Amino acid sequence: MASTVGNAAPGKPIAIAVVGIGKIARDQHLPTIAGNDRFRFAATVSLSGANEGVPTFKTIPEMVAACPDVSAVAICTPPRGRLALIREALAHGLDVLVEKPPAATLSEAEAIAAAASGSGRVLYATWHSRAAPGVEPAREWVSGRNLDKVTVAWKEDVRVWHPGQEWIWEPGIGVFDPGINALSILTRVLPAPLLLDEATLGFPENKAAPIEAALKLTDAAGVPVEVDFNFDQRGPQTWEIAITSGDDTLRLTHGGGKMELNAVEQPLSSEGEYPRLYARFAELIDARQSEVDLSPFRLVADAFLLGRRTTLAAFDWNG
Ligand code: NAP
Repeated sequence: MASTVGNAAPGKPIAIAVVGIGKIARDQHLPTIAGNDRFRFAATVSLSGANEGVPTFKTIPEMVAACPDVSAVAICTPPRGRLALIREALAHGLDVLVEKPPAATLSEAEAIAAAASGSGRVLYATWHSRAAPGVEPAREWVSGRNLDKVTVAWKEDVRVWHPGQEWIWEPGIGVFDPGINALSILTRVLPAPLLLDEATLGFPENKAAPIEAALKLTDAAGVPVEVDFNFDQRGPQTWEIAITSGDDTLRLTHGGGKMELNAVEQPLSSEGEYPRLYARFAELIDARQSEVDLSPFRLVADAFLLGRRTTLAAFDWNG
C-alpha cells in the first residue's frame, strides 16, 4: 500500500497522539516518543482521562478538532474495538501505528488493512517482537540452510504483564497475546510459510480465553515446529526459540533480545524494540507507505479453528 499525501509539515516533528493510556503506553510508547526527535507527543485520547501532561480527549474527532497539527496516532487500546478507532483515525486524515495484534478477529484485521489501502494514510500494524535485535540476524542465519527442527517455549506470568486486565480473559486471545509475539518472530525468520497441523488449548474453568496452548506446525518445506505457550509461568520467564540445522543450533532467548549459536552468545545491537518501531514508523510516514502483515494472526485464528479444548483449574489473579 502506498500513497502520496501526508499532514506533517516537512522538517517539523510529527505531532502524535496516543490512544489508550494503559500499561504498554506508559511502559514503552510514551518514553519512546519522548526519546525520538522525529515525534512530538501532543495529546492523548483516553476514556479515563489520563493525565500525561498534554491535552486529553475522550474521542479522536474531539482531539483532531482541538489539535489540528496532530498528524499521527499510536493506538494502544486492547484489540477489541480497534477497527472503529482505526477507521476513525484514517477518516480524520491521521497516520496510524497500532499495537499488536492488529484486531480482535481476522475479518476485522483484514478490514483494517482494506481501510488503510487507498486512504492516502499510513497504517503500521506493529509486531514489537519482530523488532528484537536477534530477529534479523536469525533470519540471515536461517537463510539458505536446511532446517531440521524448530521449538518454541513462550511462558510468562499474566499477573506480571497484564495486572488486573480483565479484557485478556474475554473470549479470544488469552495466552496468544504473548504467544503471537513468538509467531511474529517465526513468520519473519523462517523462509517458508507455516501451516498448523494440531493445537491443544487449555481454558481455565472460569475464563473464556486459553491460559495455555501447544501447537504443532510444519513449514512449507516440511520442517516441524513445536510450540509451547503458557500464561501461568512463575519465577523466571521464558521467551525462547531454538532452530536446529544439522549439528548447529541457534537459540533466540529473552524474546529475541539475545542470540546463541551452539551455546555461544552472539553480539547484537543494544537498540530496544520500541525505538526501532518508532524509527520504522517515521520511515513509513516519509515514504507514505503502509506495513500490514497478518500472518501471525492468521495462525492464531487457525489454532482456534483446529484446537482441541481442555478445561483447567480456575484462574485466580491472586493465586
Ligand atoms: P491495558 O493496560 O489494559 O491498557 C489499555 C488501555 O486502553 C486502558 O488503560 C484504557 O486507557 C484503554 N481502553 C480503551 N478501551 C478499553 C477497554 N474496553 N478495556 C480496557 N481498556 C480500554 O493494556 P496493555 O497491557 O497496555 O495492552 C494494550 C495492547 O498492547 C494490547 O494489544 C497488548 O497486546 C499490547 N501489548 C501489551 C504489552 C504488556 O506488557 N502489557 C506488551 C506489548 C504489547 P484509557 O483509559 O486511557 O482509554
